[in-house]
Amino acid sequence: MQDSDLLEILVQYLYKEKDRIKHEIDILREKHPEITSEQREIINQISIKEDYLASITRDSIDKYQYYWASLKQHDRRPCPFCFISRHDSQCFLKPLPGNNKVDVIKCEICKRKFYLPNDIK
Ligand SMILES: [Zn+2]
Repeated sequence: MQDSDLLEILVQYLYKEKDRIKHEIDILREKHPEITSEQREIINQISIKEDYLASITRDSIDKYQYYWASLKQHDRRPCPFCFISRHDSQCFLKPLPGNNKVDVIKCEICKRKFYLPNDIK
């Protein structure tokens, strides 16, 4: 797989993550009026998710892409989630055993897995 294709797939993971977090916040907001004793905890969860969501911006994704473009061929590639949310460029993606349809890479820190179709030319 070309390095640029890998980057494109990882950036798509970020956009999907953004949609997923937005959806989780919406669900938490819908529960909000029904809950009294857990209200503080729910508000806290919303706040944490909103902070996380706010970290995934076009600007932060651009920074990830610029950083990626600055890497040399044999440099290890950083996890997009750790890079953006923890400002950590030293959390590396590690290949895992895949199969004939997908390659799998995993972040050493946040343990997220990324599935890469290996039929991309
Ligand atoms: Zn990570």
